[in-house]
Amino acid sequence: MVIVMQEGATDAQIQNVIDRLIASGFDVHRSTGASHTVLGAVGVHRDFDHRDFELLEGVREVMRITQPFKLASRQFKPEGTIVDLGRGVKIGGPDVVVAAGPCSVESREQMLAIAESVAKAGAKILRGGAFKPRTSPYAFQGLGEKGLQMMREAADKFGLFTVSEVMDPSQVEMMGNYVDIYQVGARNMQNYHLLRALGEVRKPVLLKRGLSATMEELLLSAEYILSGGNYNVILCERGIRTFETYTRNTFDIAAIPVIKKLSHLPMWGDPSHGTGRRDKVPPMARAAVAAGADGLLIEVHNDPEHALSDGAQSLEPEGFTQLMAELRIIAPAIGRRMA
Ligand code: PEP
Ligand code: MN
Repeated sequence: MVIVMQEGATDAQIQNVIDRLIASGFDVHRSTGASHTVLGAVGVHRDFDHRDFELLEGVREVMRITQPFKLASRQFKPEGTIVDLGRGVKIGGPDVVVAAGPCSVESREQMLAIAESVAKAGAKILRGGAFKPRTSPYAFQGLGEKGLQMMREAADKFGLFTVSEVMDPSQVEMMGNYVDIYQVGARNMQNYHLLRALGEVRKPVLLKRGLSATMEELLLSAEYILSGGNYNVILCERGIRTFETYTRNTFDIAAIPVIKKLSHLPMWGDPSHGTGRRDKVPPMARAAVAAGADGLLIEVHNDPEHALSDGAQSLEPEGFTQLMAELRIIAPAIGRRMA
C-alpha cells in the first residue's frame, strides 16, 4: 500500500500515519519528495481496510498496489529516484551517465590507459570486473582485490567513479573500499542473500537483469535491496536469452520505457553484453539513449584482441570516443544531455 500525503501535511500528521501503520504491523518506508511525502507500507494483511487510512488527517490518497513490488513502483516515488554519486554526477535526472571500461581488470597499465581514454571521451565511471562470474570454471576468474586496487588508482587519477561486480555477501565490506557502485551481475540477480546484504549498505547498486528474468522479476530483486533501506538502486537491461543466435543475447530495448513507467528507479542499458559484438554496440547504445536510458554500461578495451574476457564485444577507445560524440547529438533530441 502506498499513502500519498497532502501537500503541506505536517510532521505530526505524517508521524501519526506512520505510527498507525506500524501498529497495524506494516514496515514503513518514507519518501520525501519536493511537493509531498509518500509512505510505502510493506506487509501482508488480510483483514485490512485501507479506508481507515484515507480518513486520517493530512492523507491525500491511499493506493493499494496490486503489483508485487511496492518500494520499486513508480507510485512510491512519482518524481523518480536520483542516485547522486557526488561531484555533480547524478543518475536518473536529465543527464545520461556512461560507465566504460574493460570486462575484466587485467593489469595496472591496462586500467590506466583505458581510464585515460574513456575519461577524455566523457565517461564518468570506470568499469572493470575483479571477480568474474564466468560460465566456465576454467575461464579467467579475475584478479580479485588487487584488481580493485588497480581500478581505484586509475579512476582516481582521471577523476572517475568506479563500478565493479560483487558476487558474494562476504565481499561487500572489502569492496566498499574500492567501488562507488556495486554491480550485481545477471547471474546473481536472484542471489537473495547478496541482495539482502546490499540492502544494508548505502552505496549505490547497479542491478542487472538476469539472463532469463522477466521485468517483474528484476523489479522484485530491486525490492529486496530497497526493503533493506538502500534506495540507491540502478537497474540495467543487458540482454536476455532468446531463440536468436546471431547476437549473444537479445537486447530488450523495450524494457527501458516499460521499466521507467513501472518504477522510479534509474534504468540503464548495456549494449555490450546485449549484443556480444563490437560492431553492434554503437547502434544499440544509440537506440538505448533514444529509448530513454538514464545511463549506459559499455565495455572498452585498449587491445580487445588480447582481452582476457569479452574482447569481441569491447569497443576500442576510438570507437568509444566516436560513439560518445554521436550520443551528444541524440540525447538533446529527447530532452536529455550527456553528463
Ligand atoms: C559484466 O558486466 O562484465 C558482466 C559479467 O555482465 P552480466 O552480468 O550482464 O553478464
Ligand atoms: Mn563482460
